[in-house]
Amino acid sequence: MARIYNFSAGPAMLPEEVLKEAAAEMLDYNGSGMSVMEMSHRSKVYQQIIDEAEADLRKLVGIPDNYRVLFIQGGATLQFGMIPLNLMTVNKKIDLIHTGIWTKKAMADAKLCGEVRVVASSEESKFSYIPDVDKIKFNEDSDYVYMCDNNTIYGTKYKKYPNTGNVPLICDMSSCFLSEPIDVKKFGMIYAGAQKNVGPAGVAIIIIRDDLIARSKDLPLPAYLKYATHSENGSMYNTPPTYAIYICGKVFKWLLKNGGLEARKAANEKKAKLLYDYLDSSSFYKTAVEPASRSLMNVTFRTPSDELDALFLEEVKKYKFTNLKGHKSIGGLRASIYNAMPIEGVEALIKYMKEFEEAHK
Ligand SMILES: *Cc1c(COP(=O)(O)O)cnc(C)c1O
Repeated sequence: MARIYNFSAGPAMLPEEVLKEAAAEMLDYNGSGMSVMEMSHRSKVYQQIIDEAEADLRKLVGIPDNYRVLFIQGGATLQFGMIPLNLMTVNKKIDLIHTGIWTKKAMADAKLCGEVRVVASSEESKFSYIPDVDKIKFNEDSDYVYMCDNNTIYGTKYKKYPNTGNVPLICDMSSCFLSEPIDVKKFGMIYAGAQKNVGPAGVAIIIIRDDLIARSKDLPLPAYLKYATHSENGSMYNTPPTYAIYICGKVFKWLLKNGGLEARKAANEKKAKLLYDYLDSSSFYKTAVEPASRSLMNVTFRTPSDELDALFLEEVKKYKFTNLKGHKSIGGLRASIYNAMPIEGVEALIKYMKEFEEAHK
């Protein structure tokens, strides 16, 4: 077996234990005589899979009773549109903190539904930091405040969330969901595409407060685009992404078994510190991200030139590493070290980086 260290920003590595379990159950899930892929979503056995996934997620995160958990297809990107369609429906104005391409896309969709007020932005410095949330003046007539917690492309992450008073805070957590404890009650809604840190592509996980679901109940929207539809039907209005939900459920169990989100945070901090400490000690590699805004999940860096970046990616092919290229919009290099990346992967990467530095400085 030739597993490699996959530093992809997503779809990304999953825990090996989870993949092995899924492999063992591939032909016959739990005595059902069939794969989960072949199973009716209306069957008792599948109902148990989705119910357990939700119950485990609730336990893992500590989700209060007045929040629903929804599993919806369409990735995080569908949520860019669903959020304003469902929730930008009272005063038709929102506040948004602009931290990169993902908030830009969310902004473009929201503008179709009303007025978007950018209350803070790091665009002037190419999104190399998270704005100081204590200095932001929010508007009280906003239907919600929108933010993206971990900015996958640049490698920035909030260390503190804004206090938006009575205005619900809506947060894209696609690339940091379940990497650390979450205080759900600070948010009106949290969502994440699964394929960054939680499971296979094909499902987005939504945690949304009851009063926000109620906003969409009587809107003239297509059924599938309403949160109320998904909530009233237990995420089974139509066929849900059954296999993806099953794997997410296994990842939730893996997280619970391994100390929950506190333990995950400690492990992620340890991995990221190794890499950042090395970057800080090196005069060869540079990271553009301000230390106070550094992501634990996506570490972006550069060598002294574009040519050496390209050579770095070429020479790395000799090793069991892959997907270290930076996002096409900013170039450079990026190591995504989500929950399932073992510390050995980070150590091996640093070893290679040192060798490359020695050879080319
Ligand atoms: C990847 C990503 C998205 C888009 O996710 P899709 O599932 O591909 O739609 C949105 N937001 C963030 C923060 C991401 O990392």
